[in-house]
Amino acid sequence: MIKLGHNQDELAKEIKARSGINFNACLHCRTCTNSCPFVEGMDYAPNAVIRLIQLGQEDAALKCSTIWICVGCNTCCSYCPMAIDIPAVMDGLRHKAIEKGVKIAEPDVLNFHTEVLNTVKKYGRTHKLEIMMRYKLKKMDLLSDMGLGLNMLKKRKLDLTPSKVKDKKAIEKIFQKK
Ligand code: SF4
Ligand code: SF4
Repeated sequence: MIKLGHNQDELAKEIKARSGINFNACLHCRTCTNSCPFVEGMDYAPNAVIRLIQLGQEDAALKCSTIWICVGCNTCCSYCPMAIDIPAVMDGLRHKAIEKGVKIAEPDVLNFHTEVLNTVKKYGRTHKLEIMMRYKLKKMDLLSDMGLGLNMLKKRKLDLTPSKVKDKKAIEKIFQKK
């Protein structure tokens, strides 16, 4: 059962400010949940996460797996009758979870995101081989997808060397904190 949190308004205000989304317009019609291709892997349905925020259930909202399982595919918002941008809300929660240092429900997802961003920061583009190598190294699991990796290399789906953008300064600016 979802209970009312102590800082009900504060959490809603903060996530609204971070995401720019007015999720109080949510009708809880569950269209988002019924359309989400990843709902089976989530502990709370997408609309239930919105409910957690509305009820000020910060701990549950920040520690749930849903905010990490969401891939930002936008299927939910394209069907939402109130045009609520749920991935932006999930993003706001992910940022807050990291800032607060709560236990991340899906650390592998965070590790993967971090490695993707690291290559973008370095080269201005992703470098799949490096992302996978670093991700696997962190997990101490270099061998489990070796066959797949070799097949991808054979089919030229993985580049050995990274492709880099010319304007590195523009990338640095994007990564500079406001
Ligand atoms: S589809 Fe939109 S209005 Fe309906 S529950 Fe999901 S977020 Fe709320
Ligand atoms: S954006 Fe996230 S919540 Fe929405 S449908 Fe895709 S995975 Fe599900």
